[in-house]
Amino acid sequence: LYMCYDPMKKLGEIHNRLKQGEASLDRLEMILNAEEGVTDPPQPVSISKVEGRVSFKDVNFSYKDQEGREIPALRGISLEVPAGQVVALVGPSGAGKTTFASMIPRFYDPVEGSIRLDDVDLGELRLKDLRDHITIVPQEAVLFSGTIFENIKLGRMNASDEEVKEAARQAHAHDFIMMQPHGYDTQVGERGAQLSGGQKQRISIARAFLKNAPVLILDEATSALDSEAESRIQEELADLTRGRTTFIIAHRFSTIRIADRILVFEGGKIVGDGTFQELQEKHHLFRNLLEMQRH
Ligand code: ADP
Ligand code: MG
Repeated sequence: LYMCYDPMKKLGEIHNRLKQGEASLDRLEMILNAEEGVTDPPQPVSISKVEGRVSFKDVNFSYKDQEGREIPALRGISLEVPAGQVVALVGPSGAGKTTFASMIPRFYDPVEGSIRLDDVDLGELRLKDLRDHITIVPQEAVLFSGTIFENIKLGRMNASDEEVKEAARQAHAHDFIMMQPHGYDTQVGERGAQLSGGQKQRISIARAFLKNAPVLILDEATSALDSEAESRIQEELADLTRGRTTFIIAHRFSTIRIADRILVFEGGKIVGDGTFQELQEKHHLFRNLLEMQRH
């Protein structure tokens, strides 16, 4: 885990640990936390109904390298995201998009400033409570060895069988699952289901539907290889964003195009904030990014 550069990749690492039997599911959070020194507050605030408003106020964040030198990653970030808004994060590589998204489930805490969910500072919530309200759909689907059913159920362990299947239908996964040798009980992996990249993504999306959290973080696929499978699941992803506050680390023109709001990152700052139309009209960097993404 120490080697993981990108927090989103931790999920992949955890997957390997699960496969090797080194970790049980209820320990995952602890593994994540131990890494960054992110801890539960002594007197957590309890939240029941979360609408999904997210706000950053004067947030600064730096990573520390091996010698303890600071690598600034977010500088003076302030914004209010109303519940249900779909926000695309764009900007050159290294601009701070992944770091920004990683702050919401508290993979890192701000060095300065504060982040709130509805009106509660993230640091006042129990980590489990916070993360129960956030779904992360990583670039590459993370499946562990077990059945397809178990892989979906991971989204919400107390879900009923019918709810698991309903989530699979929402993700348009039900039909191909039924065609597997043992349907939902087919093992994922070598001797079980031979799932394509797109099918694995659909299982990952079904898991997200099942979790049904008000805040959603999507990391869009970048590689050309994935892009075909990726384009086939665009509709299911769009369905998933409905009614949820969504942050998409966006690489695709089509996503940038349909987001309610676009944040342009550069050098750890938000240098553009508006609709596609607004940014296209007056934002230089945004236009350049579009040119690069268009094909
Ligand atoms: P983006 O997602 O826009 O490509 P990142 O948020 O990944 O940008 O990176 C922002 C800055 O933080 C970059 O300078 C990057 O090198 C640095 N950075 C990102 N992750 C780490 C890390 N785990 N350790 C040290 N520096 C990091
Ligand atoms: Mg990134």
